[in-house]
Amino acid sequence: MTLLDEAKKVAAEFEYTAEDVNRGVKAFISQMAVPNGTEKGLYLAVDLGGTNFRVCSIQLHGNTTFSLTQSKVAIPRELMVAKTSKELFSFLALQIENFLRTHHNDHFESHLQRHKSGSQIKSEEIFQLGFTFSFPVNQIGINRGTLARWTKGFDIDDAVGKDVCQLLQSEIDALHLPVKVAALVNDTVGTLMARSYTSPGKTGTLLGAIFGTGTNGAYVEKLSKVTKLADMKESTYDKSTGNMIINTEWGSFDNSLSVLPSTPHDTALDADSVNPGIQMFEKRVSGMFLGEILRRAMLSLVSSPTAQLFQDADSSTNDENSTTTIAPDSALYKQWGVDTSFLSLVQADTSPGLGVIRQTLARDLGVDAASAEDAAAVKVLVEAIGRRSARLSAVAIAAIVISTGNSEGTAKRGEGDEDDVVDIGVDGSLVEYYPGFEGYMREALREVEGLGDRGEKRIRIGIAKDGSGVGAALIALVAAKAEGGGG
Ligand code: ADP
Ligand code: MG
Repeated sequence: MTLLDEAKKVAAEFEYTAEDVNRGVKAFISQMAVPNGTEKGLYLAVDLGGTNFRVCSIQLHGNTTFSLTQSKVAIPRELMVAKTSKELFSFLALQIENFLRTHHNDHFESHLQRHKSGSQIKSEEIFQLGFTFSFPVNQIGINRGTLARWTKGFDIDDAVGKDVCQLLQSEIDALHLPVKVAALVNDTVGTLMARSYTSPGKTGTLLGAIFGTGTNGAYVEKLSKVTKLADMKESTYDKSTGNMIINTEWGSFDNSLSVLPSTPHDTALDADSVNPGIQMFEKRVSGMFLGEILRRAMLSLVSSPTAQLFQDADSSTNDENSTTTIAPDSALYKQWGVDTSFLSLVQADTSPGLGVIRQTLARDLGVDAASAEDAAAVKVLVEAIGRRSARLSAVAIAAIVISTGNSEGTAKRGEGDEDDVVDIGVDGSLVEYYPGFEGYMREALREVEGLGDRGEKRIRIGIAKDGSGVGAALIALVAAKAEGGGG
């Protein structure tokens, strides 16, 4: 067998057929849990970006309507480099107090009275707060995450390694604020909100999805669908239509691998990861993992006795007339040694000699004088891994489009009407920079029963950069519900 044949054999293991896509969509739909979204209450959100600190509240009126209030303050420079984290976080807590006094003073004052009189505080009286924290954290729970490092000019030594929710909660408690940090918020809802505001036309956005380091999606569910649960418990429920946002955490779709595809490289990657058995969908889709899958697939061809990737001793197929060598300290031999941006670069090289791929192999991976056939073999692997990732992404998107009843055009509107669209906001370097990612995704969407060409055409996908903390309040709500807490 030639190297290219061997590469194609490995690539074939990444094949994710139309039938697989359809099985995936069905499994995804059946695993989508729909929470009951009928509670009243006030939810808070804060967003610590690089420059500003935003506080907002969402008052849910209990009948699907809500009102939203927000305030913004610049973070003083000296606090970005404060001696202790307490200085920064006490400032943040103070902003929350100011916000509550300005916008929710009655609730705030009555809580303070109860606190002073020493009477029992009921959990329903505590505001649930969603905390969007735009710095690298190792998230270890819905409202727990330790700061990995500061970026963007912040530098406060003693915060590193600490749980940022706890740091904020301590200062909130010191001020006796009736606030619980209920969720450390990820960016899917922000993406959904940002896209909703910016998408063209009248159509609202259905889904906000991240394809960056990780992958996840949050979508708008009709409250009419959500109320099925409420109808069982309460006979009086306002049936007027409204929406609710669901954070899917689809990175952990099908952790039991009932429908997800697996190659030996996926299995090995997972076994050597810090969280084996978890985030199995994400481990086949997102930026953190595609480079590592490729690295392992390439290594399998390096060590294959027949394929012999990067072992070309025959100078006739090699421009530089030299033997191909792999540096002993090559990133190929290091876990996480290959970044997913390498796949984008490989995918983009359509030149006859694949010169960019060969140069990058030398520069980044210590593979000197790779042959054109080596580069072609790497490209075969890359396309298989990237394409599978995009097709799996299509599974999540199709499942949500179908299960929310958006797979059919509205009867009133004809094909091609400006408003006959399903709008999706996406963010993350993978979807932004991987050449043809959306094309691969669309190819799979057309293969989905219930979508087809027409359904795929109606789906409009747009990049939504940097969603803010507005959506954090709704995540706090979901978090509070998951805990069975107040709100
Ligand atoms: P975050 O997930 O932190 O918000 P990004 O959306 O930038 O950040 O995603 C980072 C991930 O994207 C990393 O896993 C990285 O390997 C990958 N990545 C970075 N550049 C590219 C690229 N050009 N093509 C594909 N993936 C990329
Ligand atoms: Mg991001």
